[in-house]
Amino acid sequence: MIEFADDAIVLRTYTSGEADRVAVLWTREHGKLRVLAKGARKTSSRLGGSLETLAHVGVDLIQGRGERYIVRHVVHRERYATLRADYDRIAAGYAVVEVANAIPAEDVADEGIFELLRRVLLTLDDPNFRPGLVPTSFFLRLLAYDGSAPVLDACVNCGRSEPLVAFDAAIGGALCPQCRSGRPLSPDALELLRRITGGDLAAVLRAEEPPGTGEVASLAHEAVELHFGRRLRATHVAPPRDLGR
Ligand SMILES: [Zn+2]
Repeated sequence: MIEFADDAIVLRTYTSGEADRVAVLWTREHGKLRVLAKGARKTSSRLGGSLETLAHVGVDLIQGRGERYIVRHVVHRERYATLRADYDRIAAGYAVVEVANAIPAEDVADEGIFELLRRVLLTLDDPNFRPGLVPTSFFLRLLAYDGSAPVLDACVNCGRSEPLVAFDAAIGGALCPQCRSGRPLSPDALELLRRITGGDLAAVLRAEEPPGTGEVASLAHEAVELHFGRRLRATHVAPPRDLGR
């Protein structure tokens, strides 16, 4: 049995048997891992309280036979008190970890995704930023990180630069009137997409609700869903009870 320590973001947890809890972690050095916390649901357990969805934790793990990992010890690195006190921030956090959980584990086992997640949670915990477009910015970053950044400066089909009137997630970008497919794209939404991906994100996240917000949120979700090939649920369900207390 190999024992090791790592830092991790908790993507989700669920119960197992009478007293155990299983957690899905995105670790800094070992990618996505499913781990078993034995006895975590007993009131005397020191493991259970720390292994909450959206927590940043330090974990000591044992790798047993095959794919099985056992939690020996957990400590909190960040508690994200502002995030945990606000329903909209929690819901945004759930939208983010749901997508991270949909990334096939064998595809990406690197520190870059861990850092993206950690920064997203810090942003959601910062009262200067509004949570509404945080998942959207994460989805767009993730696509770029995976080599599929949407093309927004010219028609993705023919290269013509103006006007761009449609967005097609399957083709991977904006389109001119001649090549249009996918969904209509308003000038406000195009401008907002360019600001989010072009270095103006902090100002976007400080604003009340920039024009084009709903449209951009919807198309970024569609694009990331298509990219990772799975129906994503987080934006449609309420967070479970282990948060928001
Ligand atoms: Zn075109």
